[in-house]
Amino acid sequence: MTKLFALCSLLAMSLLLQCAAHAAAPFARTSAPGFYRFMLGGYEITALNDGTLELPVDQFLTNTTPQKVNAALAKNDLQSPLETSYNAFLINTGAKLILVDTGAGHLFGSHLGRLSANMKASGYAPSEVDEIYITHMHADHIGGLTTDGEMCFPNAIVRVNRRELDYWLSEANMAKAPEGNRGDQKGTYRRAMTIMAPYIKAGRVQPFDGEQALSPGIRAYQSAGHTPGHVGYMIESEGNRLMVVGDIVHVAAVQFEDPTVTVSFDSDSRLAEQERIQEFNRIAQDKMLFAAAHVPFPGLGRLQADQRGFRWIPVNYSAGK
Ligand SMILES: [Zn+2]
Repeated sequence: MTKLFALCSLLAMSLLLQCAAHAAAPFARTSAPGFYRFMLGGYEITALNDGTLELPVDQFLTNTTPQKVNAALAKNDLQSPLETSYNAFLINTGAKLILVDTGAGHLFGSHLGRLSANMKASGYAPSEVDEIYITHMHADHIGGLTTDGEMCFPNAIVRVNRRELDYWLSEANMAKAPEGNRGDQKGTYRRAMTIMAPYIKAGRVQPFDGEQALSPGIRAYQSAGHTPGHVGYMIESEGNRLMVVGDIVHVAAVQFEDPTVTVSFDSDSRLAEQERIQEFNRIAQDKMLFAAAHVPFPGLGRLQADQRGFRWIPVNYSAGK
């Protein structure tokens, strides 16, 4: 009897050990590479994801209340902190490879900074990028330019609105700014100066003034408010258009329905609000395809005006042609 009991115990133990060793089905965790590709006329567009961050959006949306924000999120089955996308867009015109914004690099921890890996997975190397067009100089849009003082895009020319460049590279503006790393705070200036330095030293920064064509089929347009020199880019090929809007919207579930909602790190919230409403109206009227940095990846879709604000219509998924 004792022997039988001992044998049973041994069997039970070895079963337990086996279970532990095989641990059922471990989670793979990672998603597919973060790129999404489509043709815009004769141009190839690739949306590139730099990662996602959970943001306490009920704390930083302004011209509203946390209660209203949480109600709007709940209507969309979401809550704060909200997992938020960081997107950039790569345009292959057939003649040139142009990247609009670069993601955050390693400035926001390991959840961001995936742009270059996703670009490689999509079939392009950062060294192949000819030109980089910046929407504005917040660190989550330019941080990917540089790692530890080295250029991540060694063969690229960086195009940036002169007004934006002068604003963030100004020692006088930085001296007046309060401490902190968000919006118009000292850290944002300091980061911009550090990130841009190697490109400036190499003579690779070419500022432009406001609205102008930067390349065949690509025009910069003024979109000031979120930052003083914020711009968007209109891409046009064979009659097809795409507006790359930068940061006129941060929280899709809240600001499409109510574009009067602003963010605490706008340089000029009133101007940002007016600009957002004006651009949303244009997008809706022209049934324009647009690309946004913080709308859930791939950040591509259209808007329809409704009684209150705008309805977001994401692009229909395409597996590519
Ligand atoms: Zn941003």
